[in-house]
Amino acid sequence: MNISIIGPTGVGKGTQVDRVVVKYDLVPISIGELFKKNIKEQSGLGLLAKRYVSRGELVPDEVVDAMFEAWIRLTPATQGVVLDGFPRTLNQAEFLDTLFVELGRKLDAVISLVVSEEEIVNRLSGQRICRECQMPFPAVAPFQNCPYDKCHGEHLYRPEDADPDAVRVRLAVFERTIGPVVEYYRKSGKLIAVHGEGDAEKVNQALIAALDSARG
Ligand SMILES: [Zn+2]
Repeated sequence: MNISIIGPTGVGKGTQVDRVVVKYDLVPISIGELFKKNIKEQSGLGLLAKRYVSRGELVPDEVVDAMFEAWIRLTPATQGVVLDGFPRTLNQAEFLDTLFVELGRKLDAVISLVVSEEEIVNRLSGQRICRECQMPFPAVAPFQNCPYDKCHGEHLYRPEDADPDAVRVRLAVFERTIGPVVEYYRKSGKLIAVHGEGDAEKVNQALIAALDSARG
């Protein structure tokens, strides 16, 4: 089985990816992690991506596609995968279709995790980072013990990108590019929308039930 889970930052993709990996024995690929890995290893694609990122520009589809292709060609077609954050644009979705045909893979379903804008703003703007140990901590929960034993919650600050207005802007940009992707998969009958609010375990049960019934 090959699936993709799409949704903006803060929607809870990571948790759901981890769970379907275990449930269906899939290999996960996070496009964000793939970026970091390529940049860290200073691969040709990594250096190219870094140039765009450092200028504050979006990395072009061709670069993202090439990174993805290099990764998936190393994975046997018999091993199912779950894609986290890919495809993110209509061009990437069309590229994925062509590549999967060539590799003898079939994309079974695309799960769109849906959470209200206010919920995402609440989740992300609640982030605090510790200046001393660099750990992220939730603002609302009682302070958890510092894993490095360096602090007791006295150095927390809200990072710039967790500002509620900044979160709303990023969300609007995401919605503009993902809209055509969602429509593309709706038309091909592959789209499964899952309500992502509330308990992660319940979200996962709903996701798995929807996925199993879609596969018949
Ligand atoms: Zn700390």
